[in-house]
Amino acid sequence: MSEKTIFKRIIDGEIPAEILHEDEHCLAFRDISAQAPTHVLVIPKKEIQNVASATDEDQMLLGHLMLVIRNVAQELGLEKGYRVVANCGSDGGQSVDHLHFHVLGGRAMQWPPG
Ligand code: 5GP
Repeated sequence: MSEKTIFKRIIDGEIPAEILHEDEHCLAFRDISAQAPTHVLVIPKKEIQNVASATDEDQMLLGHLMLVIRNVAQELGLEKGYRVVANCGSDGGQSVDHLHFHVLGGRAMQWPPG
């Protein structure tokens, strides 16, 4: 069996995280290395590696994640806006192989990203 990712270990309660939202399908928790005043990760409990490995069956789940992002951002008071990022694969800069959406806010973002 392949080794659990760090995010699977958070889902399973094996390592702590500052959890802001949890439901049957997903978790939202603060990134351990915040790149903005607010930096939250929203992840499915289902083990999907990244956007590229999502299937048509995941359509409802992916939509649910987007609405959780909306709710968490609202609860955190990001009324001026925020950025949602999903790094995918090595060229995308993905370092944890479990699908996650970064939600970054609390400052104006730069464009283009690096
Ligand atoms: P990626 O580079 O794959 O898009 O993002 C992975 C993110 O996970 C990084 O922003 C990193 O700081 C965060 N991260 C890695 N390990 C942990 C951890 O143990 N706990 C939390 N809360 N975040 C983590």
